[in-house]
Amino acid sequence: MKILYHFFILFICIQSSSFAQNYQQQLNTIDIQHYKLAIAVSDTTNSIDATMSIKLKFNKTVNEFQLDLFKKDSVSGLGMVVDSIYQNNVKVEFSHTTDKINIQTKHTFPGIEYTYTVKYHGIPKDGLIISKNLHGDRTFFGDNWPNRAHHWFPCVDHPSDKATIEYLIEAPNHYQTIANGFQFEETNLTNTTKLYHWKTTVPLPTKVMVVGIAKFAVQNIGETHNIPVSTWVYPETKEKGFFDFSTAKNILDFFIEHIGEYPYQKLANVQSKTRFGGMENAGNIFYFEKSVSGKLEHEDLIAHEIAHQWFGNSASEIDWPHLWLSEGFATYLTDLYILESKGNDAFLERIKQERQTVVNFYKKSKTPVIDTKTTNYMHLLNANSYQKGAWVLHMLRKKIGDGLFWSGLRTYYETYKFSNASTNDFKQVMAKISGENLDTFFTQWLQKVGHPIIKSSWIYHDKKARIIIEQTQETVFQFPLDLEFIYKNGTSEIKTIQINDKSAPFVVNVSGEVTAINFDPNAWLLFEQID
Ligand SMILES: [Zn+2]
Repeated sequence: MKILYHFFILFICIQSSSFAQNYQQQLNTIDIQHYKLAIAVSDTTNSIDATMSIKLKFNKTVNEFQLDLFKKDSVSGLGMVVDSIYQNNVKVEFSHTTDKINIQTKHTFPGIEYTYTVKYHGIPKDGLIISKNLHGDRTFFGDNWPNRAHHWFPCVDHPSDKATIEYLIEAPNHYQTIANGFQFEETNLTNTTKLYHWKTTVPLPTKVMVVGIAKFAVQNIGETHNIPVSTWVYPETKEKGFFDFSTAKNILDFFIEHIGEYPYQKLANVQSKTRFGGMENAGNIFYFEKSVSGKLEHEDLIAHEIAHQWFGNSASEIDWPHLWLSEGFATYLTDLYILESKGNDAFLERIKQERQTVVNFYKKSKTPVIDTKTTNYMHLLNANSYQKGAWVLHMLRKKIGDGLFWSGLRTYYETYKFSNASTNDFKQVMAKISGENLDTFFTQWLQKVGHPIIKSSWIYHDKKARIIIEQTQETVFQFPLDLEFIYKNGTSEIKTIQINDKSAPFVVNVSGEVTAINFDPNAWLLFEQID
């Protein structure tokens, strides 16, 4: 996703919904295959009535297992109340603590599929946002990242337990619905209600499972590579919205051609109530309400969210500390889309801006990209995951070359699509494709804190430039550094030196009298230069 500029204010009010929970026990115990969520919403109450049928397999023999579901809090009155749970057709005992339902099993065996049906109701505290949009119309929008799905349906709310999902939505018939997958059915139930049935054929992580229920204006803008692309915006400003999202087809084309087959059945771009700037929900991306302006202001945001369909949604990080595999990829792939669509100057402007963002962030937060200590996942939506992650890919592209970089990305995607990967998995793919040992590269840029902060001095004498480079930061990095020598006769020349030590002298043969040296003239290195 992409965060809004006023995001830091939001930290204050959303902390409780995104703290680390212990998922390891659940991941070791069960493997969810399929979710079938029957959910009824209405205009007279914010309370939902729902029945979730979960097909799952046990990884081992257990008497009890856990699903995530936020329990009704007696003070606020928000949260879910479980009415009953059945294992296949047999009622089972359960208890419900703050975030977990503990379910007693009856004679289950590992490897066999069971269906657990949870009947429940309540007002979602989070996850399904029931409110009014900017035109005052009532709307319902799922907004699950990172683990807020369990505020409106029982699940294993972790990106590494993927499953297919279907939604049977009962809603007043003046709404339209959008959800993951394809629409299977739309039936009039009564004079005032309809049933909408949506279904996915490929497994998704819970973070991108959503429904949207609202009054929409919908435009089908055509197909590309057999994928239908549509725009769903509030009817009041439909012309502006249709125009703003009209670029989606070209962006989709670019990524299909560069990365591989699009993972889902459709691409819908949806104006919504997401708290994020954009939220990459699988096959139906939700954008913030004011993304619609009629001025094509958010092409890069659209590109970012579309890139996530491959990286983050389909090939997903194995756990939240590896978030850069999602956000760094979406950020850099947007840069590469801009390189193709707007040229090198526009690309360089972005990449330099991203470098500055990393430098600024480092001044206030000394954390590595792979951050296993931060327990509030919302805090991982930072410059390390986005801009530094993008810069790691940028430097990797320089290190192994454009052709191998793209072919490595394609292989990584093909290997981990509909599945999960760690940073090490990605490293191994890229190392194999390039034939290079990438251990130092990945360790220093992703597991260590910071980046090179260089102090230098130089003199010129007799066709030689003598340069002393000192790394002033704590961790010593190894990297190639491009130096552009500016000569007295007005010409220039770029030479590359390899930096391995904290401080070292270099003697570079040059072809004229040096009047200045530009460090990293083409923006290939994440570094700072100080006096
Ligand atoms: Zn993103």
